[in-house]
Amino acid sequence: MKPKLGLDLRPAMSLRLEQVCPCCGQPYYPSKTWRDQYDAVVLGTEQFAICPVCTQAPTQRVFDSLDYRERCLYQIRRLKNLYEQDREATRLNRKNRRH
Ligand SMILES: [Zn+2]
Repeated sequence: MKPKLGLDLRPAMSLRLEQVCPCCGQPYYPSKTWRDQYDAVVLGTEQFAICPVCTQAPTQRVFDSLDYRERCLYQIRRLKNLYEQDREATRLNRKNRRH
């Protein structure tokens, strides 16, 4: 499978409707970009303390749940992949501009 680059990473439209987070189960407004999510997770002090999808702190019960932690790890992997792809795309863009 070909990795997606650049514009494809952005959602087609940003909905302002409240949704239930698929990771921690809290209501949230899906307005965050993956970069916000990445920053929240990477700059967060404690792993799992901030949900990588909605960037909210989960409840204690969710925080302790193994299912939640598995979903977190999956989302964190996904965000790191996006970050790597974005960095690579930026690098290539810069190279092209020099010509
Ligand atoms: Zn969440």
